[in-house]
Amino acid sequence: QRAEIGVTGLAVMGRNLARNFARHGHVVAIHNRTYAKTQALLDEAGDEGTFIASESMADFVATLERPRKVIIMVKAGPGTDAVIEELAGLLEEGDIIVDAGNAHFPDTVRREKELAERGLHFVGSGVSGGEEGALNGPSIMPGGSRESYESLGPLLEDISAKVDGVPCCTYVGPDGAGHFVKMVHNGIEYADMQLIAEAYDLIRRGTGKSPAEIAAIFREWNSGELESFLIEITAEVLAQDDARTGKALVDVILDQAEQKGTGRWTVQNALDLGVPITGIAEATFARALSGGVPQREAARAALPAGTVEWHVDDPDAFVEDVRRALYASKVVAYSQGFDQIAAASQEYGWGVDRGAMARIWRGGCIIRARFLNRITEAYERDEQLPLLLADDFFVDVVSQCLEAWRRVVAGAAQNGIPTPAFSSSLAYYDGVRADRLPAALIQGLRDFFGAHTYRRTDADGTFHTEWGADRSETAVDGGFT
Ligand code: NDP
Repeated sequence: QRAEIGVTGLAVMGRNLARNFARHGHVVAIHNRTYAKTQALLDEAGDEGTFIASESMADFVATLERPRKVIIMVKAGPGTDAVIEELAGLLEEGDIIVDAGNAHFPDTVRREKELAERGLHFVGSGVSGGEEGALNGPSIMPGGSRESYESLGPLLEDISAKVDGVPCCTYVGPDGAGHFVKMVHNGIEYADMQLIAEAYDLIRRGTGKSPAEIAAIFREWNSGELESFLIEITAEVLAQDDARTGKALVDVILDQAEQKGTGRWTVQNALDLGVPITGIAEATFARALSGGVPQREAARAALPAGTVEWHVDDPDAFVEDVRRALYASKVVAYSQGFDQIAAASQEYGWGVDRGAMARIWRGGCIIRARFLNRITEAYERDEQLPLLLADDFFVDVVSQCLEAWRRVVAGAAQNGIPTPAFSSSLAYYDGVRADRLPAALIQGLRDFFGAHTYRRTDADGTFHTEWGADRSETAVDGGFT
């Protein structure tokens, strides 16, 4: 008996993916550098399906049907390169290597190119949903050659999450596209979490409600348009009491947020592409600020608030305002993330279908949410939609939230409550919809100190003012005065 698919790297993620395949009736070859993990899988879950275990990579490869399909689920970085190298030496033309770890997409582009030259398919695939998702149905974002998807796709779709019977897995695009989309997914996850954290903080400081009371608010929000995994688990975390002190657990957790780096990659790439993903960037910087212990200590000791303690007059109305501010800011963050996918797709020639990405994020992954349906519909209405925020549905949403959003951001500023994601999203909203931006002045300044030139509203071409001389204007590049 041959295995339909192989998994190498049997830590939490690989082990659960392998079990997921087995539970779906697929024969799975399993391998791990250290055999103990393979044995543990057999001991603890061997009865869930058909596993073929191997101690050596060569034996592992020999158990696979052709074209061989091997999923690598090891620590991202040099470990992945080592495993790819070992595998590539054992595989034959047309076989498929899938890297389902969290690789940085430029690494995936490089690996795909190298392996394509050796006649092998390399599929960089995003997998989201953590260990629970890997076992019960993740969201899967495979890149690589379209040809590889023909034999690999049905297997991946089979083990992916399903929403309304539709798999949360689809072909994303060539080489690094899958890992890129996963990276942006994680960036959006950062923004979502920051927005939720700001909403919690505002309600707590504005109304004095306890974490348990705020948990109830999030539970209620989760039955409406904000319904999502992150809102659901926010209620769980806020309602949790600490066994040791009896306090709310959130009050004894150190307030320094950590990160593994996908948010940073997302922001770095957005800077390269020149896409304003302010929501994700502010969320990433907010984590950095929280971890800046010496700076926070110095600031706490020296800087006044210039405000008195905040008590809103009508707590129920305030909570509803915060809900609307959260919803509008969330729409902005997603709109920005999808802009980044569009820009990258254009830059790297990937042809990513944004509506399909929203569809495969509806289940299995951390940002799964009811409102992703609305995003898919928006791109179905217009595949080339220049700005998600300007789709009719989202125009309606944001219009209904706008007054509340402004009240919340203004109130937060007046009362000294940091809301980087709420306020930057509102600033983005007002910036992107503005008739005229002060960018005109920036261009004037750039021309003044660096002769960087500017374009005019009333004539084609490029112009420069002789700032140091008679301040006459000259046409630099095909323009006329
Ligand atoms: P880890 O990232 O902790 O990696 C451990 C695994 O990598 C072990 O199987 C280990 O083998 C293997 N490994 C490390 N270095 C090498 C090497 N040089 N050669 C061969 N094998 C090596 O495992 P996770 O399951 O947490 O994650 C796997 C991948 O999935 C990572 O890329 C991660 O970023 C990604 N991911 C993780 C998620 C999560 O929620 N944890 C979610 C989505 C993606 P050994 O047992 O021999 O040490």
